[in-house]
Amino acid sequence: MDREYSNSNRRLEDKMEEECGIIGIYSPEHTKNIADLTYLGLHALQHRGQESAGICVRGEDRFKTYKDMGFVTNVFDEERLAKMSGQMSLGHVRYSTTGSSKLVNAQPLLINSAKGELALAHNGNLVNSDEIRCNLEKQGAIFHSNLDTEVIAHLVAHSFKDDIIEAFTHSLQQVKGAYSIIVLTEDSLIAARDPYGFRPLSIGKLGEHYIVASETCAFDIVGAELIRDLQPGEMVVINEEGIQSNYYCERKPDSFCVFEFIYFARPDSVIEGQNVHLARRAMGRHLAREMEIEADLIIPVPSSGISAALGFAEESGIPYEQGILRNKYVGRTFIQPTQEIRDLKVRIKLNPIQEIIEDKRVVLLDDSIVRGTTSKQIIRMVREMGAQEVHMAISSPPVTDPCYYGVDTSRRQELIAAQYSVEEIAEHIGADSLAYLSQEGLLNSINTTRNGFCTACLNGDYPLVGESDKFAFE
Ligand code: AMP
Repeated sequence: MDREYSNSNRRLEDKMEEECGIIGIYSPEHTKNIADLTYLGLHALQHRGQESAGICVRGEDRFKTYKDMGFVTNVFDEERLAKMSGQMSLGHVRYSTTGSSKLVNAQPLLINSAKGELALAHNGNLVNSDEIRCNLEKQGAIFHSNLDTEVIAHLVAHSFKDDIIEAFTHSLQQVKGAYSIIVLTEDSLIAARDPYGFRPLSIGKLGEHYIVASETCAFDIVGAELIRDLQPGEMVVINEEGIQSNYYCERKPDSFCVFEFIYFARPDSVIEGQNVHLARRAMGRHLAREMEIEADLIIPVPSSGISAALGFAEESGIPYEQGILRNKYVGRTFIQPTQEIRDLKVRIKLNPIQEIIEDKRVVLLDDSIVRGTTSKQIIRMVREMGAQEVHMAISSPPVTDPCYYGVDTSRRQELIAAQYSVEEIAEHIGADSLAYLSQEGLLNSINTTRNGFCTACLNGDYPLVGESDKFAFE
């Protein structure tokens, strides 16, 4: 994995790194507990990234940032938060794959340019960052991290526009790809969503505070109310003049990431008008109709299969059982990129209950198969508990293509459905039968205000492709 981009010194394996959660809070006045609120919001967004966590607050006349590797609860404590009062704040949790798990890549990123100071936090993955980075390096820019966020920061610093908001707008007009981004200037909070609307971003209100966050579960935890989702290509500026919205580029075809609904988002979040749990339950119902199986039990792979398994049980009449228990206290901190450790991880996390499974014809339901490791392990464990038959039900279509826009669905060569047919996968994972939800069934399960989704990981239909993507993700 040490191949390098031809036009950049950035390591290949650092590419798939931007599966993150972001939150920003604007208050009309200096607020003592602004970091506490941000911390709570980040806590709710923890599922979007467990590698590092960071908060930046704008105090009286300066920014204060603290970030470190690890979970939100490990990085922050009461004492640290108490030192971070201010009028605006910005928080980030980061997911990263092997090779890029370094503090230097943690966010928010703070830059000091001639136009003023700027703090940035970003979720997504740009597809032309290597080209931009290369051009900026030729002009003398020195990069400290592998972050796409730093590319945007340098574009702001290099922009010919003097006003920092105009410079930021100008920067976003040059980047391509998936981004939901929040920045703090010295007096404003700015939030923007790319013109395709790949990643989620919503605005809420808590009293006089405005909150912008990746998912609405961050509003619930602090008691904030959802106002609306940012629109693709929309930029919102919040400052003492109030809240202003504008569209900074031409709108592209709606391409909201369907994998947010399949797996990534939290079930209690509402995205584009659709509750995620209910969408997943509908996926389970569709799958039951398409699969038409006779069995004694439907058992979810916890936690990702629970919502769809409920729908499956409702539709099929097969009783739902919690036949596999999940140890809640296993983090991802020790995940190593070797196959042996991945297998061990599944065993540590999940434990089947013999008394429920023995002599039963079982349908196991999970949201997706990526490499096939999880399903193979679980089926083996369920068989060891004496199941008579094990049928695997997957509440999404096969993941056949890598994601260029920030979800870590692996490279093509690691995706089992890119290499093998459904029958071959069933054999590989040791299932008596395997059924995936159809793409039609998936899309019919999601009832949103958007007209279209990005389904590239399921059918290779990429809304936009950068020069180095095809090579980088193979
Ligand atoms: P695998 O073992 O590689 O087939 O991965 C499938 C399992 O990982 C399923 O249980 C999914 O819920 C979960 N999963 C799917 N996508 C992701 C992702 N992007 N990051 C982490 N886990 C995932």
